[in-house]
Amino acid sequence: MTAASQARRRRKADDLQIVALERGRHISYSACGIPYWISGVVPSVDDLVVRTPAEFRADYDIEVRLGHEAVGLDLARREVLVRDHDEGRELRIGFDQLVLATGAVPLRPRLPGIAAAGVFGVQTLDDGEAVRAALDGPLDGRGPARRVVVVGGGYIGLELAEAFVQRGLEVTVVEAAAAPMASLDPDMGGLVARAVERLGITLRCGEPARAVEVGPDGRVRAVLTTECEIPADLVVLGLGVRPATVLAADAGIRVGVTGGIVTDAQMRTVSHEGVWAAGDCVETVNRVSLAPTAVALGTHANKQGRVAGINIGGGYATFPGVVGTAVTKICDLEVARTGLRERDADEAGFRFVTAVVESTTRAGYFPGAEPITVKLLAEKRSGRLLGAQIVGREGAAKRIDVLAATLWNEMTVEEIAGLDLSYAPPFAPVWDPVLIAARKAWDAVEADVAAHER
Ligand SMILES: Cc1cc2nc3c(=O)[nH]c(=O)nc-3n(C[C@H](O)[C@H](O)[C@H](O)COP(=O)(O)OP(=O)(O)OC[C@H]3O[C@@H](n4cnc5c(N)ncnc54)[C@H](O)[C@@H]3O)c2cc1C
Repeated sequence: MTAASQARRRRKADDLQIVALERGRHISYSACGIPYWISGVVPSVDDLVVRTPAEFRADYDIEVRLGHEAVGLDLARREVLVRDHDEGRELRIGFDQLVLATGAVPLRPRLPGIAAAGVFGVQTLDDGEAVRAALDGPLDGRGPARRVVVVGGGYIGLELAEAFVQRGLEVTVVEAAAAPMASLDPDMGGLVARAVERLGITLRCGEPARAVEVGPDGRVRAVLTTECEIPADLVVLGLGVRPATVLAADAGIRVGVTGGIVTDAQMRTVSHEGVWAAGDCVETVNRVSLAPTAVALGTHANKQGRVAGINIGGGYATFPGVVGTAVTKICDLEVARTGLRERDADEAGFRFVTAVVESTTRAGYFPGAEPITVKLLAEKRSGRLLGAQIVGREGAAKRIDVLAATLWNEMTVEEIAGLDLSYAPPFAPVWDPVLIAARKAWDAVEADVAAHER
């Protein structure tokens, strides 16, 4: 919808007719807010919706067709084959320009019982509504849900686990790796694990789920891990997502090594003229490792949609790639990352040092000072920042934005240590944790150089 509205800003309705097809019941909403609506922090589902189809028609002259699924692309005839679920019919819609923004789909491992009723992946608002309905109403013949198992301890799994705890449910998170939040290094993930357990969530790490046990009513009854059986009324999958590219791939549109559609910087598919792609369904480039990457984040989806829309509208814009910045909150614990983890840096062929510092978010004596841990990775010899991770309490996470900006500009940790960052006791210690971490990382770079010179 961002692409559609950007194109409309530049080309009026008599010049460009825009039709948006959505197979579900909602458009233009914040999927990022779903966990907060499930918990009740956000009171109404309507609060998550930015603009309705009626508003798109009235304000932008964009026709939105809900319940319309694109089931095939005939690129030679420039037509989309569409299934209208409400009317139960199929139709073809012609196009001059086509934007693919099909998003991502939650990973569903091939486990016995995974298709049982009561097993949910949460990607769209329709998915969120299905989970809310299962929580709000009694389960057929079983009373209200009491126990939830979340399979996968990534950020979506943990945000949902927190939401379930806030609703008074008994929650277990099953995670195959040794620590949750695989987007962090395991040492930083360990800090998250302790916070999750303090919330009253049972965290079972190093225990992959191996089956879903199904009751005689066809509903999930338990999750079996390699170690035990965990009773469950609901199971939510938080195993990550993959780009939704079946439609594109079936039509011969080029899909890259990450599974995302390959585009150029203007968001044009590289294989087909007049076909664009944006959002979770595409791959982009990581500016640090220079490798292709598929990152399912709303911040990129919005920017890419804007770029596609501007270009379709006759303007010029490009998407510059990503550095891998992300932030989340699990209760009062803030978690943020940018750039490469140790594993990524190894894979990209970098030699690096690491520095971890513990500090406070405000001057230590100031009321409300909270703990913060900052970890930096810097390239050996050059000292260039390669990655950063932050775990802490209120005021910790958004410090990642300074590090993301320095990473983007390929600054060294020595340069970062000298940055003119703001200071007053209610906001930071006199040496901000970012500066202390950069100084420590630079010490490590120098020590490494000295060790090699000896
Ligand atoms: C629980 C949750 C929390 C999140 N939190 C954050 C966050 O804090 N920060 C952040 O940056 N990102 C977050 N994200 C990710 C963010 O929501 C996505 O990256 C973003 O929505 C992607 O936008 P998109 O337009 O590419 O795809 P979507 O928003 O997924 O939209 C794709 C749409 O296409 C429809 N569709 C798919 N195939 C077809 C078809 N064949 N025909 C018709 N319609 C079709 C789908 O029904 C869907 O509505 C979160 C996601 C979830 C699920």
